[in-house]
Amino acid sequence: MSPPTADPTALARDLLRCPSVTPAEGGALDLIERVLKPAGFAVHRVTFAEPGTAPVENLYARIGDTAPHLVFAGHTDVVPPGNEAKWTHPPFAGEIAADTLYGRGAVDMKGAVACMLAATLDHLAACGGKPKGSISFLITGDEESIAVNGTVKLIAWARERGERFDHCILGEPSNAAAVGDTIKIGRRGSLNGTLVITGKQGHVAYPERADNPVRGLVTLMGALMATPLDHGSARFGASNLEFTSIDIGNPVVNLIPGEARARFNIRFNDHHSQPSLKMLIERRAAEAAHDRVRWHIDWEPSNADPFVTKPGPFVDLVCGAIKGVTGKKPELSTTGGTSDARFIKDYCPVLEFGLVGQTMHQVDERTAIADLATLTAVYRAILDRYFA
Ligand SMILES: [Zn+2]
Repeated sequence: MSPPTADPTALARDLLRCPSVTPAEGGALDLIERVLKPAGFAVHRVTFAEPGTAPVENLYARIGDTAPHLVFAGHTDVVPPGNEAKWTHPPFAGEIAADTLYGRGAVDMKGAVACMLAATLDHLAACGGKPKGSISFLITGDEESIAVNGTVKLIAWARERGERFDHCILGEPSNAAAVGDTIKIGRRGSLNGTLVITGKQGHVAYPERADNPVRGLVTLMGALMATPLDHGSARFGASNLEFTSIDIGNPVVNLIPGEARARFNIRFNDHHSQPSLKMLIERRAAEAAHDRVRWHIDWEPSNADPFVTKPGPFVDLVCGAIKGVTGKKPELSTTGGTSDARFIKDYCPVLEFGLVGQTMHQVDERTAIADLATLTAVYRAILDRYFA
């Protein structure tokens, strides 16, 4: 019996028909298992849970038992579709129209998962069913939500079983306009905090008997927004602080509030660590407060530190595969939000390359069928070069 092969478009369509809004598995991992098992992969389904969170299913599959070990990582969970009436094609129907595949997860990232599967089956078929090393799939159902029962636990579980990874390709939609234009080689860190100003409540007509915290809030917010955190680094753009909400919660018109809060998020580059960034922000707040404003900052725990996969042979190999298929020289980028690469980078070098991200998380999320073929060819070229 010859090893099975797969059509990326049919696979992507079938995955899109699985309603796998986090934390639901929706049949997506079943489908992947049905593809990988007959191809000779040892498939593990692992469920993780912790108090206060929904249990989430994950999948780890490996073929081969020697180095080098290349792992394809991804997620099958998707964000909710929102108002389904606004979709031109139903979000979980996997409909194709005008050479375009529609559905929630088309680019983020069931489409890329389908391309990884198809490329791997093609590669295995071409080399007699066994790789010259090992290929794994590390697929989580918990990426789009709080991401605590997904990759972070799955990769630690695999490590405990004795798995050693040499390199990883994560299939997030890295490209801006066309497949081949961008590889993500790193990500910024992310840190959330709440600035809290304490005043003294009182009647609005007797301000001398009160201490309005809004004054202090405006002063400190102004100070924190006024000066850039840095001017970027070799591989990253400038770090940035954005206030996202101002919360006083005062329902009446004649009361000076006793407390005022402002929430903010910082996306930061490799000039900072979380402790150094907190010190910088608190020093600036203290300078602006001049002992006149009573303030503190509540920092939220963060598992998103900045990282970068340094250019070298692996980056060159992936760039070469992309160039060979698309003719493009990809930009090496560190922009955008966080991804599961932040967990994988502690185990092996990781690059993110997938479909075109333009419609991710939007109504009518979609991918060109041609892009699925191109991405499959790129993944295939990566495999062929990696195991040459
Ligand atoms: Zn994603």
